[in-house]
Amino acid sequence: MAITIERNRGIIREAEEQFGLECPYCGVYAHMSPQSIPEFENLSKIKPKHIGLVFQCDACNAPVFLRFAVKQFNDDSIELYRNFIELERPKERFQFSYLPKHTELLFREALSCYSSNNFNAFASMCRRAALSSFSALGDSGKLRAFDEVMVAQDIAEIDDDSFEPIKKVIFDTGEEENLPLLNRAQAGVLLEILKDMFYQCFVRRGKLSRAIKVRRFFVQESNGGLKTSA
Ligand SMILES: [Zn+2]
Repeated sequence: MAITIERNRGIIREAEEQFGLECPYCGVYAHMSPQSIPEFENLSKIKPKHIGLVFQCDACNAPVFLRFAVKQFNDDSIELYRNFIELERPKERFQFSYLPKHTELLFREALSCYSSNNFNAFASMCRRAALSSFSALGDSGKLRAFDEVMVAQDIAEIDDDSFEPIKKVIFDTGEEENLPLLNRAQAGVLLEILKDMFYQCFVRRGKLSRAIKVRRFFVQESNGGLKTSA
């Protein structure tokens, strides 16, 4: 999205292209409309390197703050670079209540690092969260988790070379300073793989046993003549 701020005309987008983002408030990938634009006169006097714009999420009307670097100041327009920084990133969600307490705490912090684009802090916290989950799973917990991750690799069709750093972060027993450095793309894969591993090891079991408990309860109630099942 190329953006210019024009004297007397406000904000102009290249060919009026639609601009969409994942909203940090409602989580919907929504169209964003300009809501608040700094004044042209003021900007051209001060000539800041960065400019903040506020957009409005069309799904929930929340204000979304973005920071742009200035490409060029002209007499009647200010050109901005295409790339921008989202000051509030969408929060990563997970069904935390099914995780063991210790794992939950560590994984929440991992996701918060991820949302702030701190991908190697995220990897370190993933290592800790994974370790804590293995001990919660008991004797063969790590092996079981490993099997789940291998299945996930297969389903996602990720080749061994690309998957190596992800496996290292989750399962290696070495020192933390030997963790591989992850880029954004690798961190994204690690995030999805670890979510899936936790889902398979904890959430699925928790949900299923809770659902079966509820079914049994209603059967017992109706057998006791207290309730008729529909
Ligand atoms: Zn929204």
